[in-house]
Amino acid sequence: MTARVLVVDDILANVRLLEAKLAAEYFEVVTAMNGADALEAVQRTRPDIVLLDVMMPGIDGIEVCRRIKGNPATQHIPVIMVTALDQPEDRVRGLEAGADDFLTKPVNDVALFCRVKGLVRLKMLTDELRARTGADPLGLASGEPAVDGAPGRILVLDNRVAPAERIRNLLTPKHEVTLVVDPQQAFEAFGAAQGGFDLIIVNLDLEGADGLRICSQLKSVETTRQTPILILVDPEDHQRLLRALDMGVNDYLIRPIDRQELLARVATQIRRHRYTEQLRLTVRASMEMAVTDALTGLYNRRYLETQLSQLIEQSVDRGKVLSLLTLDIDFFKSVNDTYGHDAGDRVLQEVAGRIRGSVRNVDLACRTGGEEFVVVLPGADLPIAEKVGERIRKAIAAKPFLLGPGSHLTVTASLGVSSLASAQDAVEDLLKRADRALYRAKREGRNRVVPAAA
Ligand code: GH3
Ligand code: MG
Ligand code: MG
Repeated sequence: MTARVLVVDDILANVRLLEAKLAAEYFEVVTAMNGADALEAVQRTRPDIVLLDVMMPGIDGIEVCRRIKGNPATQHIPVIMVTALDQPEDRVRGLEAGADDFLTKPVNDVALFCRVKGLVRLKMLTDELRARTGADPLGLASGEPAVDGAPGRILVLDNRVAPAERIRNLLTPKHEVTLVVDPQQAFEAFGAAQGGFDLIIVNLDLEGADGLRICSQLKSVETTRQTPILILVDPEDHQRLLRALDMGVNDYLIRPIDRQELLARVATQIRRHRYTEQLRLTVRASMEMAVTDALTGLYNRRYLETQLSQLIEQSVDRGKVLSLLTLDIDFFKSVNDTYGHDAGDRVLQEVAGRIRGSVRNVDLACRTGGEEFVVVLPGADLPIAEKVGERIRKAIAAKPFLLGPGSHLTVTASLGVSSLASAQDAVEDLLKRADRALYRAKREGRNRVVPAAA
């Protein structure tokens, strides 16, 4: 992983030390030695992350953080406050100013790379998701109320009862905690919880069980892999801590557990998790919107065009057949004219549902225009496609459409069928042949399926 890190400290030795450590791990380092220069460097170099000393003459670290987070152009850049060990209230002030995390001086390597890599990974993910959705749909500013409000649902996994209960007591006023003492029950608890958990806290030092293995399972199982894990480790358990971080554990706390730090780290992990989950949903929704037709939920013409050329190519490569149906509702204009446009829309939705119910999951059902539909049938030859067409035709004609209480309407449709005939066949050829067959179906009396001439 590589990223641009801005290191800000008014003491040159501190800057040099962090610079050397980060450069040794192949991070690109930019430095600044006061608040004003730091703000200028943020604007100019657009770092992926900022390591910010709290105490500096002039504009101090807290104020620099506040300004980075207050500017819509820079608020998505993660900020780690570097605080003195004997100034715990600085952490609270930093988090209140919007900081994403903090490190205490002297900065230890494990903590440094855990926090930096965790935040850089998150930023890369959110940058990518943000690029796909356009703007910043949720606002990445820390403490965003939309993602920060509700209490967190936390699963605590520890088979030693007294320490587990202590953790629960520390968290309960603010969060909902589920305690699990049998490690294997963690997965069951997960399955039982509606909507899952926001965070899993694992004691790495389990009695008679391997905490590392549990973490690795949690990180590989589909239902739990996106949920952040915070581990609790003993100070001498350095090696296992490194292994855990390597396998994707998100954060850690060293015993004895400091209440304030526990609450801060838990809040940060939950906030990030909720933010990325919302972003993921937004991305999925916007991707679906781009490929589907809003009225019927079928794929749209744009999607048909991009997919069909790929499907044709695959079929040619693998020597497989592929067919296509075009469908046009008969006398649809009179439905609108007689019952109104809204009733027409409901007929379109119902037709779409009957098409969908008549084809396989691998078939591509699309609404390509007003009352025109296309279904792509990979692996189907012309006779099979004709049968599918006939099934769709019947599904539409056989049962009247219900427009309102006591108002029934029989709807029919005409279909044309074409099949891949040669390796040279293009999307337009297939569509054109099916359309020509469809016009014949209309001319010959409608409510019928006509295969394209070979
Ligand atoms: P044919 O049997 O020859 O296909 O006759 P038709 O009336 O279905 O054909 P035509 O293409 O003349 O009419 C299609 C009508 O579809 C015209 C338009 O009013 C209607 N239409 C197109 N898009 C929509 C839509 O989104 N909603 C509704 N309700 N009607 C639509
Ligand atoms: Mg038409
Ligand atoms: Mg029509």
